[in-house]
Amino acid sequence: MTQTTSASRSESGTAPPLVTMREVQKHFGDLHVLRDIDLEVDAGEVVVVLGPSGSGKSTLCRTINRLETIDSGDITIDGSPLPASGPGLARLRAEVGMVFQSFNLFAHKSVLDNVTVAPIKVKRLPRREAEALGMSLLERVGVADQAQKLPAQLSGGQQQRVAIARSLAMQPKLMLFDEPTSALDPEMINEVIEVMTDLAREGMTMIVVTHEMGFARRTADRVVFMDAGRILEVAPPDRFFTAPESERAKDFLSKIL
Ligand code: ADP
Ligand code: MG
Repeated sequence: MTQTTSASRSESGTAPPLVTMREVQKHFGDLHVLRDIDLEVDAGEVVVVLGPSGSGKSTLCRTINRLETIDSGDITIDGSPLPASGPGLARLRAEVGMVFQSFNLFAHKSVLDNVTVAPIKVKRLPRREAEALGMSLLERVGVADQAQKLPAQLSGGQQQRVAIARSLAMQPKLMLFDEPTSALDPEMINEVIEVMTDLAREGMTMIVVTHEMGFARRTADRVVFMDAGRILEVAPPDRFFTAPESERAKDFLSKIL
């Protein structure tokens, strides 16, 4: 494999990748949305997925926690195939946190309850422990003082930080972010990006779909560029942004930079 198409940054080959996608195909009816997807993500790695609208970025993320099934190919996490159903699937969803454009908090629950509900229900953590964990996570994302409020009383940036804390409460191995700042007013984008940057620095494995090119440049280990369901390029950000190889990537960058 050449450097650009190499699926993994790992040179040593000792630690197995955390996520492996092999020849993944996905259709929506006649639409071939994921084509021959091969990707490996190492533990601790930050992969930013870029590409035009409709190129399959969200679908790619959603296949990894099985919000979408695949037609063929393999996806493994920590060497195990994704469970199809039952307790295995619930465990997978806990291990793979996902943060979307819309924050999807429980509107009728307090901020703290939003963060503790899954640890209590899924992990059977005693309430007291769950609340201590929840408060420490709200602290970490800078919204501990909002713990007793309802989500609607918070700004969009604060709500998205709560959504991140809620995912972290399940101690995920991997975090998927699908345009987490796209619904935010511009002045709130940075506070969410900062939380994501801290998380990356602390070693979280992350797959991030974003239009925040500053984040991609500074924080990504690798950029994956998608077009029409295919991965066209995989490169470190300094190379991708200065010397993209494909015409499609050049065209994409010329429109956004
Ligand atoms: P991106 O996130 O890069 O904008 P998506 O993964 O959301 O792209 O979508 C890829 C393609 O699949 C698009 O053409 C989109 O319209 C289509 N698509 C996405 N979800 C569905 C669905 N549930 N049913 C049918 N088509 C879909
Ligand atoms: Mg999308």
